[in-house]
Amino acid sequence: MLKQIINGRILTPEGWLEGGSVIIDGNKIKAVSNSDLHIVDAEIIDAKGCYVVPGGIEMHVHGGGGRDFMEGSEEAFRVAIKAHMKHGTTAIFPTLSSSTVPMIEAACETCEKLMAEENSPVLGLHLEGPYFNPKQAGAQIPEWIKPPVAEEYEPLLDKYPCIKRWDEAPELPGSAEFIKSCRKHGVVAAIGHTRATYEDVVAGHDAGMSHATHFYNAMPVVYKEHEFKVPGTVESIYALSDMSVEVIADGIHVPPVMLRVVYQIKGVEKTALITDSLACAASDEGVAFDPRV
Ligand SMILES: [Zn+2]
Repeated sequence: MLKQIINGRILTPEGWLEGGSVIIDGNKIKAVSNSDLHIVDAEIIDAKGCYVVPGGIEMHVHGGGGRDFMEGSEEAFRVAIKAHMKHGTTAIFPTLSSSTVPMIEAACETCEKLMAEENSPVLGLHLEGPYFNPKQAGAQIPEWIKPPVAEEYEPLLDKYPCIKRWDEAPELPGSAEFIKSCRKHGVVAAIGHTRATYEDVVAGHDAGMSHATHFYNAMPVVYKEHEFKVPGTVESIYALSDMSVEVIADGIHVPPVMLRVVYQIKGVEKTALITDSLACAASDEGVAFDPRV
């Protein structure tokens, strides 16, 4: 049976739509219509003027419902994915924080299994690390952070097509080779947990980096050396207009004024909103995979 959501402000790629409707067939969004004429036999849902965001694609998310993707198990994946699906996510790229190779392998095996299921909401795996700048570790587990190791990443990229994105700090030795290998395997290389200078960002971009991980977080902004201003990683990414960014748009990780600046400079087409949420999201348990959190 069809469901039709009416009387909401619907977010579309072209902006807000008023007086339209969202039509759902089973567990799929069938259409976003500019008409709110009732469809015969459809169940009508009155949004009462609320926002309707048809189809959130979560591309940076560590877990939810009390479970973390770093656990690697099918059960952990299913619980976390379900928690996000219940809150408006329609497709998801599970994220692994800096992990050991056996942990990455376990998550890849699980991810590929889930992706093979019919109508799977899982579109691929996102690896956030471990090739990061230790000075910008943030919430990453510091013992697991290191420069790129070809003997590790090459076999992983060869074996697991589920890997769709890999975040790295381009100032590290061996970066260009890592980024090129990602691109060769069709994997998005993103800059993150970094102290990259403008030159480092350009070198990473030249090698194929195209995206910035939780922009503004775990990367420096402009600073002063004596009388001279030095562009931070943030300004360097602004300067490269074809680079896309993602922001943790909770108004805290990136305050509203800075969100507006991101929107004005990068625009809708180059900006993604992410949750970067942990196991405690959509859960009352308050647990995290990393006991320091
Ligand atoms: Zn993250």
